[in-house]
Amino acid sequence: MTTPDMPWGAYAPGMAGLTGTQPSAAAVPGAPAPEVPAPPQQPSAGSAATRSGEFTPEAARRDVPVLQRPVNGRPLVWLDNGATTQKPRQVIETLAAYYATANSNIHRGAHTMAREATEMYEGGRAAVARFLGAPSPDGVVFTRGTTEAVNLVAQSWGRANLGPGDEILVSTLEHHSNIVPWQLIARERRARVVPIPLLPDGSIDQDAYADLLSFRTQLVAVSHASNVLGTVPPVKEMTALAHRYGAKVLVDGAQAVAHFPVDVQDLDSDFYVFSGHKLYGPTGIGALYAKPEILAGMPPWQGGGNMIDQVEFDRVTFAPVPHRFEAGTGHISGVAGLRAAIDWLTSFGREAVAAYETALLGHARQALAAVPGLTVLGDAPGKIAVLTFTLAGHDPVTVARWLDQEGIAVRAGHHCAQPSLRHYGLDAATRASLALYNTAEEVDRLAASLTRLQTQAAAV
Ligand code: PLP
Repeated sequence: MTTPDMPWGAYAPGMAGLTGTQPSAAAVPGAPAPEVPAPPQQPSAGSAATRSGEFTPEAARRDVPVLQRPVNGRPLVWLDNGATTQKPRQVIETLAAYYATANSNIHRGAHTMAREATEMYEGGRAAVARFLGAPSPDGVVFTRGTTEAVNLVAQSWGRANLGPGDEILVSTLEHHSNIVPWQLIARERRARVVPIPLLPDGSIDQDAYADLLSFRTQLVAVSHASNVLGTVPPVKEMTALAHRYGAKVLVDGAQAVAHFPVDVQDLDSDFYVFSGHKLYGPTGIGALYAKPEILAGMPPWQGGGNMIDQVEFDRVTFAPVPHRFEAGTGHISGVAGLRAAIDWLTSFGREAVAAYETALLGHARQALAAVPGLTVLGDAPGKIAVLTFTLAGHDPVTVARWLDQEGIAVRAGHHCAQPSLRHYGLDAATRASLALYNTAEEVDRLAASLTRLQTQAAAV
């Protein structure tokens, strides 16, 4: 099976608009095929921001149609980016154009469109590898998202490598999707899941971590950015320490990839996982990166088409990695959309976006500090722009509903990370999670609305 690293523009003349640099009219079925452009080095969306070295959210906002809609009669303020991000037209048009002009199954069929779709899909794999700083596309497996990627590692690598008495160290920050798959496989293999505690500011207790590591440790599961507290653990240092004991490290990048640049080789991650929909891409697509030598030694976890070499009733041989882990028809259009999202985000300059979001977080912290009775959870240095808070006198759902009436979307509940909330003695909290298209004015609307809620309650 071949894994060509095809440039996007090489595969489908009719899909030139899918790079985000061409008008979408090119994608209309029957329209004359335009010249195929070279793959963009600096796509247009962010070029102004990139040239000046500073990112401004207006450039991004112009591309995201849903941000123009009103909700409950007010302009939408989308502060639920930790749950999912809104999509730029480059991604939306890519999905429409794929189905309008290029839909085909991949890795099979001798016809032109199957070949084009395969090249697009494998080009998407190469784009993900570049995005993560991976040494080769062969270490990238497409999955439905972060959750499926962690389950893949647990069910394949875990089942083959864990045994009685082995330990999996899991930080208390983790989303349930980086806890429960380990519990399931630990139960089956009679291994143990051991939590790594947090400090009061929401950072991982590094002394406790060093004490917990031992030659029983087979794997460390740690988030690259917490979806509740925003904490960004020192993953590179934690990985180096784990490797001294021969343990592997899985990094959950679900909340990291949209916010700051990632280099899996620099981190020396054994496994790195993320979801496209938290990265301005479609739902139902994400990826697992694994060091190619580790992936090559892992058994398949799901059987079916695409992942085999030869099938007889008394024996079966499997496709090489990464295809061995992609049974069945994948989310082909999702790969196209994911690539468009990566191109869109990177066009703004990753460092510039990170710097803008850090400044916006600073503004948000100040604005929320002025709201009576509001307490933000987690203030580890270097956190991403996630503000989970409690508001004295109001339960989190009431707060979220109040904000919704004013067009402000936040999330209330346990955020699929109950242990990190329990660290603060809570079952639920309200979360405002910011993204590159959010503005200081939107943050001010959030703070003003929360202040009104408090004032109104005080007056009753
Ligand atoms: N890990 C973290 C840190 C998350 O925030 C999330 C989703 O909120 C996930 C994992 C699960 O992602 P998905 O539902 O896309 O698989």
